[in-house]
Amino acid sequence: MQNKTILYMENVTVSFDGFIAIRDLNFYMHYGELRVVIGPNGAGKTTLLDVICGKTKPVKGRVIFGEKDINITGMKEHEIVKIGIGRKFQAPSIFSNLTVCENFELSLRKSKGVFSTLFMRRTKSDQEKIFSILETIGLVDKAYEKAGSLSHGEKQWVEIGMVLAQDPQLLLVDEPVAGMSDKETEKTAELLLSISRNHSILVIEHDMKFVRQISRKVTVLHEGMTLCEGTMDEVQNDPRVIEKYLGRGGAD
Ligand code: ADP
Ligand code: MG
Repeated sequence: MQNKTILYMENVTVSFDGFIAIRDLNFYMHYGELRVVIGPNGAGKTTLLDVICGKTKPVKGRVIFGEKDINITGMKEHEIVKIGIGRKFQAPSIFSNLTVCENFELSLRKSKGVFSTLFMRRTKSDQEKIFSILETIGLVDKAYEKAGSLSHGEKQWVEIGMVLAQDPQLLLVDEPVAGMSDKETEKTAELLLSISRNHSILVIEHDMKFVRQISRKVTVLHEGMTLCEGTMDEVQNDPRVIEKYLGRGGAD
């Protein structure tokens, strides 16, 4: 599967009332890839994720996903989640007054529908799934603590865990280490690397140390177009990238 394309965006253009945020973009990802997209503010990085998860519709082009080459361009967000694309949003969606475990139970039930939210008792397989995810995100010992008492980093890992609970094949993560301490940033890199063993991940990030730690292949986006693609070293030494992005006193 390693060389099969999981995501294929062809000639995608996004326009906001005439302002072109993504311009004729071609973007490919393979199964098992952990791809990082970097680029200056306003480059179109978040818009790229919005297009993939169905939040924003392109005016041109198409987005193809998965083994069966499903055209997801016109699909609704919840349908896209169902076929295997999970998005971690920056805005927190966890309930502070519930324990970490209860938060997971709630999100699992929500994905099964309202009726089950009200009447379903916790099943053994749900519990197993929750604890397996807690293990992945390194928070087993916080299972019965109120989510509100977690650190900023831990809350972000819970959010990543909740996306994992949807069993996505492709995980979209926008600026996961924003506001994190150095130690949390490092742990997040390790977490994404471990998740990438059985998921494809597309992550957007500004923190260059973090990018260097996790990246295999980096895509530099600029004014809605790909400026260049390659390893971190290739990208950092590319004159176009230096001129348009890194040269102006570093990333961001
Ligand atoms: P990035 O995440 O790379 O910083 P964005 O994808 O958020 O960039 O934005 C790309 C460009 O599109 C920016 O100029 C931004 O102002 C514009 N933009 C993004 N979303 C909207 C929107 N909903 N309406 C109008 N313009 C938008
Ligand atoms: Mg953004």
